[in-house]
Amino acid sequence: MEYSEDLEQASAYAAKAIEHMSAQTIPATPTNFAIWYAYVTEKYPDLKKALDVLISNKQTFTSSKNAELYDKYFTHSEEGLALQDTSKKIEDQVGRVLDMIGDASSGVEGFGDSLKSNLGDLANSGSLDGIKSVVQNLVQETQKMQQSNAELQQRLKASSTEISSLRQNLEDVQKEAMTDALTGIANRKMFDTALRKAAMESMETGEPLCLALTDIDFFKKFNDTYGHQTGDQVLKLVARILSENVKGRDVAARYGGEEFGVILPQTDLKAAKVVCEQIRNAVSTKRIRNRQTGEEMGNITLTIGIALFRPGEPLADLIHRSDEGLYFGKGNGRNQTVLETELETVEAR
Ligand code: GH3
Ligand code: MG
Ligand code: MG
Repeated sequence: MEYSEDLEQASAYAAKAIEHMSAQTIPATPTNFAIWYAYVTEKYPDLKKALDVLISNKQTFTSSKNAELYDKYFTHSEEGLALQDTSKKIEDQVGRVLDMIGDASSGVEGFGDSLKSNLGDLANSGSLDGIKSVVQNLVQETQKMQQSNAELQQRLKASSTEISSLRQNLEDVQKEAMTDALTGIANRKMFDTALRKAAMESMETGEPLCLALTDIDFFKKFNDTYGHQTGDQVLKLVARILSENVKGRDVAARYGGEEFGVILPQTDLKAAKVVCEQIRNAVSTKRIRNRQTGEEMGNITLTIGIALFRPGEPLADLIHRSDEGLYFGKGNGRNQTVLETELETVEAR
């Protein structure tokens, strides 16, 4: 983030930032200060909006929440820098195109002026020679204009090719940074970003948001029996089934080794269970077979835990409750979906 305030303005912002931090009982560490200084400048609408939502939901700014915010808005990872670099190049190209258009329009103005003056000469000219010379001038001016138009067109074409390739580059970098290399679905980074976004939206709209975490059952044994590479193929299969069974705004991601997360916005626990049972059934009924040897490897099953987002809570709490469901299911025989509410009932007994 860049700032260009003078001393007085910067001091005023700093004082305001400290005021906000002490109102929210946030320690004035350098990273926290960076967040709140940016907030008071109002130059970063995304950050401002996010903090306003958190404040209006009376959320406590815990150290993990502060770290999450800093990470989101201030950490420039390598992909971030690559993105910035490509964006800068696109900006430069667009600037160049605008300059060319500017040049061209001043050329057109010149042409218009010259036409006017030639037409004036034509009106005043009494002789054939005079008319001839005016016409010749007009022909010359028109040729010049055509030539500079042709040059402009060529330069614009080159620039637009360059811009398309930069845009493609930008899209590739963005996609790669968010994709899990083995399975091709969203990676943990994308999961974290998508969950943060979904939580903000849920707080804004009041719509329910569910998070499902799933872990393959006895996967270590599967790897030990059939080999890690075959295990990797199973991970790809599970990822594909997950993607096929979620749609629209839902996000299925590889959360860790053989664990996956499914973010289900605008979905309550009951509906989330339906989706997850569909996934669980699709996986468990798939017969795993080695394509080369034809060897049958039986079935793979999933255990799934689902929790409902409580507006304002730290995302770590939501993840923890999904995890609790998952681990309850593991202890309860695996191959099942457990809602956080089912967990409470069992625990209360
Ligand atoms: P549980 O039913 O309790 O989940 O038993 P589990 O054996 O699946 O136990 P756990 O979830 O702790 O095991 C994780 C195993 O997943 C360990 C490792 O062999 C395997 N695994 C993790 N990441 C990968 C991966 O990228 N590829 C493969 N093939 N296996 C992985
Ligand atoms: Mg595991
Ligand atoms: Mg497992």
